This record gives sequence, structure tokens and C-alpha cells, in this order.
Amino acid sequence: MKNLQSTQVEALRAGIQGEVILPDDAAYEKARQVWNAMIDKRPAAMVRCATTQDVVHAVNFARDHAFTLAVRGGGHNIAGSALCDDGIVIDLSQMKATQVDAGARLGSVEGGATLADFDAATQAHGLAVPLGINSTTGVAGLTLGGGFGWLSRKYGMTIDSLASAEVVTSAGQVVRASATEQPDLFWALRGGSGNFGVVTRFDFRLHPVGPNVLAGLIVYPFSEAKAVLRQYRDFMARAPDDLSVWTVLRKAPPLPFLPEAVHGQEVIVLALLYTGDPGEGQSLVEPLRGFATPVGTHVGVMPYVAWQQAFDPLLTPGARNYWKSHNFSELQDGLFDAVIDFIATLPSPQCEIFFGAIGGATLGPAADSAAYAHRDARFVMNVHGRWDDPADDERCMRWARDFFQASAPFASGGVYVNFLTADEGGRVQAAYGQNYARLAQVKRKYDPANLFCTNQNIVPA
Ligand SMILES: Cc1cc2nc3c(=O)[nH]c(=O)nc-3n(C[C@H](O)[C@H](O)[C@H](O)COP(=O)(O)OP(=O)(O)OC[C@H]3O[C@@H](n4cnc5c(N)ncnc54)[C@H](O)[C@@H]3O)c2cc1C
Repeated sequence: MKNLQSTQVEALRAGIQGEVILPDDAAYEKARQVWNAMIDKRPAAMVRCATTQDVVHAVNFARDHAFTLAVRGGGHNIAGSALCDDGIVIDLSQMKATQVDAGARLGSVEGGATLADFDAATQAHGLAVPLGINSTTGVAGLTLGGGFGWLSRKYGMTIDSLASAEVVTSAGQVVRASATEQPDLFWALRGGSGNFGVVTRFDFRLHPVGPNVLAGLIVYPFSEAKAVLRQYRDFMARAPDDLSVWTVLRKAPPLPFLPEAVHGQEVIVLALLYTGDPGEGQSLVEPLRGFATPVGTHVGVMPYVAWQQAFDPLLTPGARNYWKSHNFSELQDGLFDAVIDFIATLPSPQCEIFFGAIGGATLGPAADSAAYAHRDARFVMNVHGRWDDPADDERCMRWARDFFQASAPFASGGVYVNFLTADEGGRVQAAYGQNYARLAQVKRKYDPANLFCTNQNIVPA
């Protein structure tokens, strides 16, 4: 393992207001943990930045001393791209400040904030930006890959609400990127992942949401899966953009509203959120209850922030995780058959297959209007392999890979960059799609030596 020389440690510490954590420090083992327990990387130093100037110093240090550099936002990336072996990690977890101008409907958030941090700040004013479904995810990594969640059918991808960003470039310069300032960088940040610099602050346009929304779960027996999936497809083809319904197939967790006999049994779950007036939403979601006879229903009016955290208990850090993902522009019967076959052979009680419904406002912008290219995707599917015992690695990963193959004939070809695992380097071009060549040009301008390389990497043109 590579360690910093003592003079290097001094030089690094000299310019940092935050903390430098080295392998011998008590804080090191915890600091190098990320959400996915399969990631086991040992950086030479972790720099817990307190200010943008700390980030500048750490970038300059890594570049000038030829260290590999990684950037940690929320640490959720399945591929473990927040860390590197033997290099410097810029850890932004202490940079979480938020600011909201409710009158102007604008909100700013620092590069280390979680979705929970930003939702709390914006919802204090009945405002929100589309973010993901697990509140401990980092705003930074999610946004830089495109970002979607319950609000996306109504308000688009997360990047569609991004107004500007403060970025520390590979040259150690602090620049602002927006439609009028460094527009090429602003274009690349919106879907180009962590390739273009360290984003220390994101500025978003906010939308009125809640604070109370209609949301919840309808759970059907697995024996009804095909009928439910077919009706779900037809329902979503006509659903208003205010309504988002996702489908999850898995073994039922011990949720209090489910009869005990259902716990641990395979089920198909509809998870929904209505962004409009909760009273109006009731009649809209009524048909969902009639797809079959539910084994449990928990739909009601609740705070938007509560729904944003509803899945956190199923997605805690520390488990072993392996994902495979496809985008779909339509859901075909053959796909449903494949899903049903594989749910019948789930390798662990925590594994699941889900279809996140996007579409609506996410389809509006042109595919080249920002780096995120998949404006034809109406559903993002993720095979979420999740288990605890390393002895199950091979079995669970094989299950995920086999389903990925079985479902490939029905997919639209693209993949969400934020769902790629560490062994999917061959899919990076598919993730950036038609925008790859332009991204490589922008990469050459802002990061010609590929300092920001521990990501789904774009090679400078
Ligand atoms: C349980 C779970 C649920 C999820 N649900 C959703 C969802 O609903 N919708 C969705 O869109 N995505 C979702 N994701 C995917 C998520 O968007 C990605 O994992 C994303 O990379 C996480 O960002 P992070 O900051 O937490 O990750 P990190 O691992 O910290 O970073 C991810 C990548 O971004 C780079 N990066 C991080 N911060 C910065 C920064 N400030 N500046 C420059 N580069 C940076 C890192 O170097 C790394 O390459 C989910 C992930 C998990 C684990």
C-alpha cells in the first residue's frame, strides 16, 4: 500500500481547514466505508474538506504529486467510485450547507449534502427538486448522473432543474457553470458524472411540492404478477405526469400493514406518489387497487419528506450489493415472463427487481440538450442484488447477471450511468449514448490529463 511521505502530509495539512485522515488514524476505517459493503478500497489519505479552498488545495496536491484522485459526495455509488486505492480522496461529507430563497424559488446545496439535507431545507418552504428514493444518497453524484425520483414525471430529471454550479477544475480554478458561464461545462455536468471537476455547490430551481402528498404502497400476491404488470403498463400509458407509480417485485419485508403470513413471500408492489392536491389524487389511484386483490394497502396523505425516507430501512448501508440495469421505452409481455421466472428463484430475501417510471417531463428536452442522453427512457429497471454473507457473492451476482441477459432483448439499449457497477466498463459508452464524443471534447478542455478518472470515465478526446 502506498503511503504519503511525512513532508507530503505536512504540505497537504498546511492548506486544509478540514481534516486529513491517514491509514493509521482511528477515523480511517470508518471514513473509507461507502454504502456498498463490497467496496474495500484503501486510499493513501482522505481529505475531509471544510471549504471550497480546501478542495482547491487537495486537487492541486493530488495533481502536483501524481496521486490518483477520487471524490466522495454521499458515498452511495454502487461501483465504489467515491474511493480509490493508494490515492487521495476528497471527502465532501462535511460540506452540507443549504440555502433557500423561497420567493425566487431557488435553492443551493453544497457538494456533500444528502437528499435528506436538501429535502429538509426546501420542504420548509413547500418546495422541492426531483431527487431519488433513498434519502441518504448524495445530491452530488445523483445530480451529476442525471437524477430521477418520484417528482421526475412532473418536473423532469434532477439536472433539468439545475441553474448553475460552482466547480473546482483539474487546474485548481474555481469556476461557475451555467447556461451563460462556461456553457460547455454546464452542459457536461448535467449527466457527465464526476468527470469534469469537483462540484462544491449546486444551485437549483425549485418547484411547489406538498408539504403533504398522497403516497403509499399497494401489495399484491406474486401469483397475480402478470395481470398486475399488464394493467400497470396500460395505466402508466395514460397516467398524468403528477402521478408516479413504480413496480417492485421481491419477497415481502415484515411491514406492519401486511399480514404475517405474507412476510417473506414473493409479492408485487406498486409504490406511488401524487404531486398534486392529495384529495384529487385519491380517485386517480383508485383503479390501481383493483388490479387484483391486494394482500395489503398503505396509501394516504403524508409529509413528502416522510415518503422520501420510506425506503431507507430497506436500503441501509453495510450490505453487499450488485446491480444490473436497463432502460426501457416500453414494457413487453416477454419481459414480464422473464421477471416472473427470476422472482421465482430469488437468491436472497433482500434481492429485488424494480421498474422506476420516468417519462412525462423527462421526455421533453432534446437528447443533446445536456449530457444525459436517454430522453426516450420511460422506465429504468434495476436488478438489485443484495445480501449479507460474502459466501453468497457468486450466487447472487449470477442471478442478477442472468436476469440482465434474459431481459436484454426487451430493453431500449441505454443505461443510467449511476446504476453501473464496477465491472461494467464496457457499457460506459452506452451510458453516455450519442453524447459521448462531445463529452470527450469537453473533457479535453477541462481535464486533459484525466485527473478525475475514478468514475464512469470519459477519456479526453
Ligand atoms: C440505495 C440507493 C438508491 C438510489 N436511488 C436512486 C434514485 O432513486 N434515483 C437516482 O437517480 N439515483 C439513485 N441512486 C443512484 C445514485 O444516484 C448514485 O449512486 C450516485 O452516484 C450517488 O451519489 P453519491 O454522491 O451518494 O455517491 P458517491 O459514491 O459519493 O459519488 C458518485 C460519483 O460522483 C462523483 N462525485 C460525488 N460527489 C461529487 C462532487 N461534489 N463533485 C464531483 N463529483 C462528485 C464521485 O467521484 C463518484 O464518481 C441510488 C443509489 C443507491 C445506493
